Amino acid sequence: MLFQPIRYLKGIGPKKEKIFNKLGIYTIYDLLYYFPFRYEDRRNFKKINELKENEFAVVVGKVLARNLRKIPVFIKKSKVRSIFEVILSDESGYIKCIWFNQPYLVDYIKLSTDLIIYGKPKFVSGKFEFICPAYEPLDNRDSLNLGRIVGIYRTIGNINQKFIRKLISFCLEKYKTNLVDPIPFNIRKEKKFFNIAASFSEIHFPSSFENANLSRERFIFQELFFSQILVYLRKAKRCFQEAPKFFIKEDIINRIKENLSFSLTSSQEKALSDILNDFKKPYPMHRLLQGDVGCGKTVVAAFGIAICASSGYQAALMVPTEILAYQHKDTLEKIFKGLNFNIEILVSSLGKKKIELIKKRLLEGDIDIVVGTHALIQEDISFKKLGVVVIDEEHRFGVAQRALLPQKGKNPHFLIMSATPIPRSLALSLYGDFDLSIIDELPKGRIPPKTIRLKEERRGWLYDFLREKIKEGRQVYVIYPVIEETEDEDLKSLQEMYEKLKEKFFDFSVDIFHGRLPLDKKLEIIKNFREKKIDILLSTTVIEVGVNIENANVMVVENPEHFGLAQLHQLRGRIQRWIHQPYFLIMESKNNYSEEAAKRLDIIVSINDGFKIAEEDLKLRGPGDFFGDRQHGYPQLRIANPIKDLDILKEARLFAYRVIKTDPELKNPSNRCIREYLDVYFKNICIS
Ligand code: ADP
Ligand code: MG
Repeated sequence: MLFQPIRYLKGIGPKKEKIFNKLGIYTIYDLLYYFPFRYEDRRNFKKINELKENEFAVVVGKVLARNLRKIPVFIKKSKVRSIFEVILSDESGYIKCIWFNQPYLVDYIKLSTDLIIYGKPKFVSGKFEFICPAYEPLDNRDSLNLGRIVGIYRTIGNINQKFIRKLISFCLEKYKTNLVDPIPFNIRKEKKFFNIAASFSEIHFPSSFENANLSRERFIFQELFFSQILVYLRKAKRCFQEAPKFFIKEDIINRIKENLSFSLTSSQEKALSDILNDFKKPYPMHRLLQGDVGCGKTVVAAFGIAICASSGYQAALMVPTEILAYQHKDTLEKIFKGLNFNIEILVSSLGKKKIELIKKRLLEGDIDIVVGTHALIQEDISFKKLGVVVIDEEHRFGVAQRALLPQKGKNPHFLIMSATPIPRSLALSLYGDFDLSIIDELPKGRIPPKTIRLKEERRGWLYDFLREKIKEGRQVYVIYPVIEETEDEDLKSLQEMYEKLKEKFFDFSVDIFHGRLPLDKKLEIIKNFREKKIDILLSTTVIEVGVNIENANVMVVENPEHFGLAQLHQLRGRIQRWIHQPYFLIMESKNNYSEEAAKRLDIIVSINDGFKIAEEDLKLRGPGDFFGDRQHGYPQLRIANPIKDLDILKEARLFAYRVIKTDPELKNPSNRCIREYLDVYFKNICIS
């Protein structure tokens, strides 16, 4: 019943249904779980002569006079087309209330009727006024909207607060006897939670702020508890799978270490030993390798790849861009010198013929290591004996995508790498079924970039500075935001910038780089840049991911308001180098930014540590945005915020662990509600 579409409810036609769908509300169940994002205390009854400016208050009065004015069409621009004014009086005085563009109020607010008004009075030409206050006829006794603590919901379109409250209240009344509590009774008792029906009632229509908070806590717990139950179920299942058996040969490891021109940092060593230990276990590794841009994740993964290949298995390394695929192949070839592995590239720009050949060789087991893009997860790609899957910059892939590659083998070991450093708590909830290795130091001797914000007036200075640096032998990136690289229109302004730069720097070599260039052209430009044949490279953010060019230590970012924090940090990571002081120059062409954009710029100037930036980013954007489709495969988080609710998360995790440890198949009668809830509500989420 709860899964009935909301269109069967009274008052919801196809148009309204669409708007509800946009809010993520499809069924009655969704509606019940559509919680208020804040509450208003509408119990603060005041006499008219007690009102204070800007202090929310509820007033009860009689309609003394009313007037609807229509505004002529020729001043339509002001967007006000009608004004409805009401004079309300109580025994202490009278006050004017004004509503714009709601002419239909004439039918609701009649002369001499009693009205409840809620709002913030404003002081206008010597008198108080209510502008667009909430209103309700006084005889509406069982009011959901006034005279109580009232939940405020996010709404869009013409769906208003009152309508949502009415719908929820109706559904709650109708279904409350059918609701089954998904949290086992003993846990509820231990946590002193209300039962499910009371919790819904208190979260939507609280009888006190305290009860509202208790109910919120309960639903936060519920979400996190189920996300952790799923994590432990998956883990438990994985432990019964048989993984490829690798031989950890010391001489291979030593050989790679000899090939490196540096020694590993101690966090790299630790991550490596985590991986080697995983290989010794009978079941497949699931590990997230996390570390800030430039901390050296690639080499760590390379050891795992080499152990796999030297044990007679194949390894696949998937990356988000073709350029990065080529760069990784080069890196691997260098550090695997003398080991005689067959390493190949698989990207879609190779063309049909070459891809066919690679496909055949993969199937025959002739290729030991394949580095590729999304091309690797195409349906017709198969392996003879896939032993390890590594996904680099995993945040660039959807969760569903990243899960496809391991399915091409028989329980291969699985390593995912991310440069989006997320706080441990979030990692626990997002990647709960992965074990975590963190590289928390950069190789010694890196010089942190100087980050400088510049106004348009200083463009002259900027160009002189670039000139100076190029003369010193350095190279420069200029990063230009292009919203949609597939749109010609969007690429036009990039092209204009290119012409400008070429003119300004006519005596230097300037080139342009973007996602639409053919692959051979891209590779040629990167090669030329690496060989210092290009002084200034104007590029879109395609350069952001993983590209590594030692001599380029100056980066200019144009129109920085178009970049997210993580993106800016990634970009800056491209120039963190050893020998020369790097410069990250933010060119602010506009004088005013939105509050959020301004904050991002403040943060990027003052913080260089990726973990701290990620935390700030979470605060700015909230976990919803941060996850994107990351949540696929996990229960949707409607109310929990793993950052803010870290304590509840930890507790939910403990409870979930206790349940799965003692009753892994959820057969115990007291856990039946968990099983049923999973079967009904998460039947689309694969537990495998
Ligand atoms: P990321 O973790 O961002 O993927 P990379 O693996 O691309 O970082 O490494 C960045 C650069 O640092 C590469 O040029 C790599 O050779 C170098 N590097 C990695 N580990 C070390 C180390 N321990 N000492 C010095 N340089 C290192
Ligand atoms: Mg990398």
